[in-house]
Amino acid sequence: MLSWLFRPQCAACGVLCEAPLCEACRASLVENAAACPRCALPTEGAVTCRRCVREPLGLDLVIAPWRFGAQLASALKRLKFANATHVARTIAPLWAPVLAAAVGDGARDSAIVPVPLHWRRRLQRGYDHTWLLALHACAAGKLARPAPLLRRVRHAPAQSTLPASQRAANVRGAFVACKPVPERVVLVDDVVTTGATLAACATALRAAGAREVIGVSIARAD
Ligand SMILES: [Zn+2]
Ligand SMILES: [Zn+2]
Repeated sequence: MLSWLFRPQCAACGVLCEAPLCEACRASLVENAAACPRCALPTEGAVTCRRCVREPLGLDLVIAPWRFGAQLASALKRLKFANATHVARTIAPLWAPVLAAAVGDGARDSAIVPVPLHWRRRLQRGYDHTWLLALHACAAGKLARPAPLLRRVRHAPAQSTLPASQRAANVRGAFVACKPVPERVVLVDDVVTTGATLAACATALRAAGAREVIGVSIARAD
């Protein structure tokens, strides 16, 4: 209803422009081209990282096209903490092709499932930013709508407030999947850091019948 009031702007800096990011912000993106296929950690030669060799995360593949930082971090922070819900729509054309490629040809039964917030945090924020990111990217990529197949059943401290060593324990058992879950799930999150959240979601999805779980996020943080 208010879309006529919305003037297209750069998702990161807010300068008026038609593209998801203005030229200067687009130029600040760092591609995460050589990364571990199991957790998207930057590695030389895109080989599996040491941690994933020792202790794989439980996902078949994790894709994060850019490194978290610079203007991409600004865009995601505006969306997450500054009520700038329009960022999810503005940025969608930028990463929808990545999501579409992960979904594949559609011949197989699959669902796009965003990592959910706990209902209490969603209530505080007024929206679920990852749901909005997935919803708009699905629309931009002409994909089926995301499916709300996961529930976060434990209210725990935000992963971003904890050191890497405590993140796996913080989200273990935090999610349950609502049946029926298709054989193949494309799991969406905004940023991957240790992969602990994606792994906890994958465990819940596999317990409910998923056989292949692919994680897709916009950015990989170190
Ligand atoms: Zn900009
Ligand atoms: Zn790895």
